[in-house]
Amino acid sequence: MSRRDLLKYLDDFGWRDVDAAASPATKPTPAAEKPAPARAAAANAAAGGEDPLAAGDLTEMARRLADCRRCRLCQGRTQVVFGVGDPKARVVFVGEGPGADEDRIGEPFVGRAGQLLNVMLPSIGLRREDVYIANIVKCRPPGNRDPQPDEAAACMPFLKRQIELINPEVIVLLGRIAARFLLGTTAPISSYRGKWTVWHGHAVLPTYHTAYLLRNPAAKRESWVDFKQLRRRLQESG
Ligand code: URA
Repeated sequence: MSRRDLLKYLDDFGWRDVDAAASPATKPTPAAEKPAPARAAAANAAAGGEDPLAAGDLTEMARRLADCRRCRLCQGRTQVVFGVGDPKARVVFVGEGPGADEDRIGEPFVGRAGQLLNVMLPSIGLRREDVYIANIVKCRPPGNRDPQPDEAAACMPFLKRQIELINPEVIVLLGRIAARFLLGTTAPISSYRGKWTVWHGHAVLPTYHTAYLLRNPAAKRESWVDFKQLRRRLQESG
């Protein structure tokens, strides 16, 4: 879907004050924060498998995780999809796990769901490179199935450490899987989306996953309500 089509798609369902003209083109992510799986894997192996949780920054942590074999997802992945964005972001978005495009490119949310996120962010004054984007699991589940609890349990300490290093004001949970594993809820997402909660001192806003929005146009109106809440919160605090 082209950027114009995506903007039209937003407009169709009520994201009416989206300012397309103000939407900056997505700049490439700074090289320092881009995962470089092959290089990192070689370095990690050479370094004797240092503990990623002891890394002092995201780049070092990504390097130490690049050859991760802590769960079965390593068997089918092309590469670990660590996360991308501003290491000092005010907002961290958490999705569920890499899909085929993310597995191939090594960056979260680069497929259709990511393209939709890219056009939603400027509507609340954010650019992709202003935020940080990560997933519950860092390796692609086969056939895009949901991550299993043991896979999430193996990977979550690294997401938690990423969040600790970034120390964002707000965590946006994209979809029920992110909410399930971060907040421990199995309730239908429609019952808690848009309701602020707190996790480890960070404000948390659960909302629909952008892939869900692509499949369920009726949910787009509610997601706009949630994004406007996020915009208001960021304006109020800074
Ligand atoms: N969906 C997700 O949850 N994460 C991605 O990285 C891409 C699609």
